[in-house]
This record gives sequence, structure tokens and C-alpha cells, in this order.
Amino acid sequence: MSDISKPQLMHFYDEESAELAIAIVQYAMERIKMDPPPLDQPYTLSELQRIVGQTITPQGRNGLEVLREFVDELAPSCISVDHPLFLAFVPGAPTESSVLFDLVVAASNICADFWLEASGAIYAENQAMKWISDLAGMPPESGGVFVSGGTAGNLSALVAARSRWRLRANGALNSTRPLIIASGGSHSSIQQSAIVMDADIIKVPADHRGRTDGVALGRFLGILSESELSRVCAIVATAGTTNVGVVDDLAGIAKHARDLNTWFHVDGAYGAAALCAPSVRHLFNGIEHADSMIVDPHKWLYGPYDSCALIYRDPKMARLAHTQHAEYLDISQQDDDSLTDQSLNPSDLAHHLSRRARGLPFWFSLAMHGTDAYSEAVEATLAVTQLGAQLIRDSKHLDLVLEPELSVLVFRRIGWSPAQYQMWSDRVLGEGLAFIVPTTWDGETVLRMCIINPRTTVAGLAQIIASLL
Ligand SMILES: *Cc1c(COP(=O)(O)O)cnc(C)c1O
Repeated sequence: MSDISKPQLMHFYDEESAELAIAIVQYAMERIKMDPPPLDQPYTLSELQRIVGQTITPQGRNGLEVLREFVDELAPSCISVDHPLFLAFVPGAPTESSVLFDLVVAASNICADFWLEASGAIYAENQAMKWISDLAGMPPESGGVFVSGGTAGNLSALVAARSRWRLRANGALNSTRPLIIASGGSHSSIQQSAIVMDADIIKVPADHRGRTDGVALGRFLGILSESELSRVCAIVATAGTTNVGVVDDLAGIAKHARDLNTWFHVDGAYGAAALCAPSVRHLFNGIEHADSMIVDPHKWLYGPYDSCALIYRDPKMARLAHTQHAEYLDISQQDDDSLTDQSLNPSDLAHHLSRRARGLPFWFSLAMHGTDAYSEAVEATLAVTQLGAQLIRDSKHLDLVLEPELSVLVFRRIGWSPAQYQMWSDRVLGEGLAFIVPTTWDGETVLRMCIINPRTTVAGLAQIIASLL
């Protein structure tokens, strides 16, 4: 039975809480300043059951003891994405300031769904978003929202695209199955969005480097029937494929989207961070025509998980697709009068309602370090990638499979079987040296290193190359 005379059974702040607060902040400080952090490795379920056991009890336990359990037993079984030789997938490398500010975001208890509730947080998030949309050359009225990741961003953008496609047809297409056309190197989340939306998806073949250009798309559109063309609700290009880091011909693809009068979405979850790097900015020409684009601050823009900037050319289009209606929500709805001096409700711009102000850690770091520091950090990783490519070319036991365009190195260990790659990958993770997993390219098992962390050095890459002898 609950005791109504003790409403503060859990909600209180006493001396013990203060002690816990100090222990938590102390741990956070120590973890944030680790350079490098331990790489760590996954435990099996039975190991965790043996080491950690049951953590939750009816009576509860001392907070310091539960914290110790996390620090000593749970955290070491989670690989540190910010380790400088974590080069698998797309790593993360949040700035110290963004992680520190994440603590502030949690403590502030902001629900950043409506302007009514969170105007200041939304204002700051929008400035960080505007830095990106200006780099892309999007119009001043563009805008969007930070969602949990690229997968959520792609889905929300494509739902907005489908909504516009149907609205423009005035009901004539309401029961027609939409068709999404995606570039050959598009991410699995585009395919997954099509499944969620019950849409058809067709991938345009990419060239030998994994890049899709306007000519290939044009040839492909040429073989579609009139009725198939009328079902196209969006064309999706990839600005930095995840597997090999190449940018599609955005200008060429944009032109076809315009000619077809359809939505142009650019998935830059990984690569569009390099919009801020002058040396590769030209690769993104054409992105300014996007109806929507995404980029993940939790990847190459040095924010903590989880955060994806989803930007629309015309955010009011997104609002038509995503606004939720309910009696108790009406108070938060924005009419045209209120919008003269407010920003759009972030909740209305994606598939979500309540939301963490997950753009704020990125905003804080950007405001503190300045945008030039971001350009320099991304340029530094591009330079290390080029030097790494040279090391691979110079190594007799390795072949560079593709010239790197952004920051992904794809290479082969001459003579190795898939099993040998896997054994090597397991070994270097076990030794705490590096986390690199094999991928496939053109049907062949190869190695892939994705370099986004400014702490990743050429000397570190040389260590990895030596371990492949
Ligand atoms: C990582 C990635 C995604 C998915 O992003 P999440 O944040 O992991 O959901 C989508 N597209 C591309 C190109 C990516 O690299």
C-alpha cells in the first residue's frame, strides 16, 4: 500500500542524494577526461548474469552501490565509440563540452515538443540547425527538428514527401501505392522506411565506385511507365554512402527530381558533416535543391547520442504530414497569427511528440568552440584518411580497394579469407587495440575503416596495418 503521508518516497534531495550527485559527477568527469578511454568489449549474456546478476529488487538498493555496479561491471561491457581506433560502422567522438552540456539538458527537464513549452531550447537548436542549412545553401525559410537518428530522420522526411505527393493530387492518389526511387548506395534505413510506409522502392544501379549519377538515374527513369512515374513520391540521394563514403551526383539527381516535380531527399547522415570542410564542399553541389536533408551530429559533428538534424526546404509541408491532433493538444497548436513571432513546433515536423532537446549538446559545443573549429576538425580527419590511404598503398600485404572521397578507407589484406578477417577483427578487439569489422565490396570480404575522430592518428593507423601482417 502506498503511504499518502509520504509523497517523497522517491522524490527528494537529501544528504545521501548530495553524496550520490558528487559520485555521479565525479565519474562523469573522469570518463569525459579519459584520453584514450579503454576500448572495452561485449560480454556474453551468461557472463553478465554471473558478474552482475539481478539488479532490481522490491526494496531498492543504495544508489552508490548501483552506480558502482554500472561503472565496474556494465560500462566495461560496452565498447567506447570515442576510442581513437574505434573505426567500425560510423564511430562517435563527442566533444567534451557537448557531453558536459548533455548533463545540463537532463537536469533542465525540458520537453522540447512545442514552442509553448520550450521556446528558448528550440531557439538555440534552430541556430545550430541553421548553421547546417546555410552550409547546404538551403533557403532562409528552411527549418526542421532534431530527431533520434538518421533512421528516424529519413522516415519522417519520406512521410512528408508522400504527404505532399498525395496533397498535390487532391485525393486522386490516396489509395495508390507510393514509389520511392533511391540511389544504389542508399542506407538500409531507406529500405526500412519503405517497408514501414508500405511503399515500393527501387534502387538505381550505382557505378563501379558506388556512386549514382544523373545519367544513370535518367536512363532508369526512361524505362518506367507513365503510371509508375506518377507513383514516384520521392527520389533519395546519398551524400556519403556508409559503406565506402562516396557522394552521389546531387546536382544531376536534383534535376530529375525537379523535372518529375517530385520530392528530393538527401541522406547525409554520415557525410553531410563534411559540408563544413572547404576541401570537399564541391562534392555536395546540388544539395541546395533538396526538399529535405539529414545529418547526424552524433556521427561526424561531434555530439553525443542520439541526434539527427532533419531539415526541410518548406517546413510547413512537414507540418501538414506530422501534426498530431487531440483535444488536450489544441492549446499548443500554432495558427498563422502566432507564427509571426514563434518557430514551428518541433513536434509537428517528424514522427514523434514528446522529445528531448537533443540538438542542445551540439548547439552548446558549436557556440563554445565556433564553427571554424568544426571545419578544422573535419578537415583534420580527411587529412588523416588520405595519409592512411598512402600507408595502405605502401604496404605490400594490403591493397587499397577504392580511393577515399570522404573519410572511409576500404582495403584488402592480400590472400585472406573471410574467416581470417573475422579472426583478426576479434583478436584486435580482444587485445584492446582497435575495433574494425569486415565489410563486403563487390561481393568480396574486405576491411573498412571510418575515420571521424580527430584523435585518430596516422600512427594509430600504422599500428593497425602492422597487426595485419
Ligand atoms: C548512419 C546512417 C543512417 C542511419 O542513422 P542512425 O542515426 O544510425 O539511425 C542513415 N543513412 C546513412 C547514410 C548513414 O550513414
